[in-house]
Amino acid sequence: MSFENATKIIDFKKYSSIKIGPAVEALVINEIGDYSDYQIIGRANNLLVSNTPPKFAVLGESFDYIKQEGDKLYVGCATTSGKLLTYVRKNDIANLEFLAKLPGNLGGLVKMNAGLKSWEIFNYIDKIKTKDGYIKKEDVAYSYRHTELNTIVYEVVFNIEKGFSKDKLKEFNKMRDNQPQMASAGSCFKNPKGDFAGRSIQEIGLKGFKKGDMSFSEVHANFLVNEGNGTYEDAIYLINEAKRRIKKEFDIEIEEEIVIF
Ligand SMILES: Cc1cc2nc3c(=O)[nH]c(=O)nc-3n(C[C@H](O)[C@H](O)[C@H](O)COP(=O)(O)OP(=O)(O)OC[C@H]3O[C@@H](n4cnc5c(N)ncnc54)[C@H](O)[C@@H]3O)c2cc1C
Repeated sequence: MSFENATKIIDFKKYSSIKIGPAVEALVINEIGDYSDYQIIGRANNLLVSNTPPKFAVLGESFDYIKQEGDKLYVGCATTSGKLLTYVRKNDIANLEFLAKLPGNLGGLVKMNAGLKSWEIFNYIDKIKTKDGYIKKEDVAYSYRHTELNTIVYEVVFNIEKGFSKDKLKEFNKMRDNQPQMASAGSCFKNPKGDFAGRSIQEIGLKGFKKGDMSFSEVHANFLVNEGNGTYEDAIYLINEAKRRIKKEFDIEIEEEIVIF
């Protein structure tokens, strides 16, 4: 089935995991093309959106598919992590167990090189598809929670290895036990080399620190959580305060993991 491009209203106060942001019209892309005027987003699990955002685009249903051919898995970038995890479990495919409770769609996962500890999505990729065709993993610069991808990714091709591990799945789920249940965008800052951002935030006294309805969680200090009516301004205030204090205390330039628009 093919779909045409369309538009839809995205209300970031509902759509984003941190429950902040305006309601705006977004382009729904169903055909590969050049959309350089637009900022692509996924499921907004890693975003903090201001009241003056760029023009957004999301991938539509044409990019929500999973196909297996030989030892390769072709997955459209609108596919959610949950759907992909269900597929690999049912089809006894190894390595993607870490997607358990890691929210997003494949486009967002790839751009962020999302993962948990040493498991990262790029470890299992063969190539990605952009408007210019397939690009081999080796030709993409990527590192911890970072890629140099500045274009829309439409499809990801994974190398298939057999053997889904229920034990790993259990382990990954357990690693989430210390994760706050409140609205957030996941980890606010990337971990500095050899350390944990949460520890630094705790040491500078910002664990549990509040501005309006926003705070660095009492449960896990690197989660910036929204108790209900948190605003973009309060979130930015806390982010800047943490950066300032960590620089002063430890002389470290801590970097946001959250993407701010
Ligand atoms: C409770 C919670 C737990 C989390 N735990 C983890 C974790 O353990 N590990 C981890 O890594 N992250 C974690 N996150 C963050 C988030 O889940 C990941 O960053 C995820 O990859 C975001 O996917 P998304 O679809 O929501 O992307 P979005 O937040 O919508 O976008 C993220 C980035 O990807 C870009 N992007 C989106 N789609 C495309 C595309 N098709 N092509 C190119 N660029 C694109 C956007 O421009 C943006 O820069 C967590 C978040 C929450 C709320």
